[in-house]
Amino acid sequence: MKQIVVIGAGVNGLCVAVQLAERYFNLANVTLISEEISPNTTGDGSAGLWGPYYCGKTPDHKLVKWSSETHVFFHELWMHGLAGKIGVCLQPCMRLTTDPNGYPEPAWKEIVFGCQKMTEPELKRLSNEHGRCYTGGYHFATFTCEPSGLLPYLFNRFIAVGVALGHKNWLEMKRCYQFEDRWHVSVLHGYTKLF
Ligand SMILES: Cc1cc2nc3c(=O)[nH]c(=O)nc-3n(C[C@H](O)[C@H](O)[C@H](O)COP(=O)(O)OP(=O)(O)OC[C@H]3O[C@@H](n4cnc5c(N)ncnc54)[C@H](O)[C@@H]3O)c2cc1C
Repeated sequence: MKQIVVIGAGVNGLCVAVQLAERYFNLANVTLISEEISPNTTGDGSAGLWGPYYCGKTPDHKLVKWSSETHVFFHELWMHGLAGKIGVCLQPCMRLTTDPNGYPEPAWKEIVFGCQKMTEPELKRLSNEHGRCYTGGYHFATFTCEPSGLLPYLFNRFIAVGVALGHKNWLEMKRCYQFEDRWHVSVLHGYTKLF
């Protein structure tokens, strides 16, 4: 059996851990190590709205692939009657800009529902309402997912097939047990900004 360790039980670590533990159930033992678990992760304080944002230099094809998988995941939860339990709901959204160059057509336009370019009268009305000078934008419908429902759901899904060690600091464990050398484990960092 392969030994895989995922570090960090935020939304990223949990998603990775669930995917690996379910997909490689008979081939690998997956252990999740985390200093904090829900309700003390970043995601617990977030809005849970789907939408690529601050994506830096991530190429469009990767952005579309990854964000589309998340959208499909929310859609499936919603279709399978889990909306109430996990807090998935469809939300009308607008993205607007005051940039003189307007809002370029989003690469994720086909992922969301009914994405339409805002018309001049709509931009004028919103500009009046908000005291801004909007130059472009899109409206569409997408999902929000309540982190207080989603994170425990993912955690429970993981512990059905893997092992979770809470309140453990990976750096200390590594120092004390020379984890990677002794266990020959593959280590995946499921959290951001550790080093
Ligand atoms: C106010 C706010 C609103 C937001 N709204 C949205 C939104 O609407 N939509 C959206 O997509 N995003 C939103 N975000 C961003 C989103 O919440 C984060 O990008 C996301 O939660 C990051 O998850 P993560 O798993 O990478 O990190 P975290 O949730 O920070 O998880 C890191 C995990 O690693 C563990 N860890 C760290 N160091 C160690 C160590 N040495 N040993 C062991 N464990 C360790 C921590 O204990 C924690 O469990 C929002 C963020 C904020 C703050």
